Amino acid sequence: MTDTKTILVVEDEKGIRNFIHNALTTNGYKTILAENGRNARAAFLSQCPDLVLLDLGLPDMDGIELLKEFRQWMQTPILIVSARDKEAEKVMALDLGADDYITKPFGISELMARVRAALRHKSLLTDNSGVESVIRIKDLTIDIAKHTVTKDGEEIHFTQNEFKCLVLLGRHAGKVLTYDFIMKNIWGPYSPSDNQILRVNMANIRRKLKENPAEPKYILTELGIGYRMLIE
Ligand code: CA
Repeated sequence: MTDTKTILVVEDEKGIRNFIHNALTTNGYKTILAENGRNARAAFLSQCPDLVLLDLGLPDMDGIELLKEFRQWMQTPILIVSARDKEAEKVMALDLGADDYITKPFGISELMARVRAALRHKSLLTDNSGVESVIRIKDLTIDIAKHTVTKDGEEIHFTQNEFKCLVLLGRHAGKVLTYDFIMKNIWGPYSPSDNQILRVNMANIRRKLKENPAEPKYILTELGIGYRMLIE
């Protein structure tokens, strides 16, 4: 990776904006800073950033509106910066096309992990060979063509739907997927609106992977939002 990635930081709180700016530049990224929606829109259109960090509570407009606008124009990864206890808002943003979210207050390592995952996902999508036939996460190997999953070289049997869930999470590894997104992908557009069937499948997957519920290694539950395959 030789080219420097540019990240548009949309955040009205100066302290947080500076914190993000310092964290990103220290880690080799370039930043464009915007303290309101109007400046963010102008910067987005004129400078085509590689990624956007978007605070939803802006002084001049709702960040959700900005997200919708950005999505109409480009598939640039967008990370929502949101307050705790705003699960409904996060889910709405994710379903409107945000790539992920990060909850205030957050640390540098968490911010960097989210940024790397979003940029990695983008390069997978734009690269023609992006649809990998084999996904490797830690000691797991998911072979899509052969329809097998091995953990540390040992094969584990999964049902059709469990396998589909694993592939979906694996293809978006590092990124949160909402319940709704997973349900529609696996069970189709007329999938049941409650997530019972998904919870049962996830419980089975975790049991077969021998996950320790207190310290998940592969799949994290994001309460009220969805699931995330862990890459770090
Ligand atoms: Ca704010």
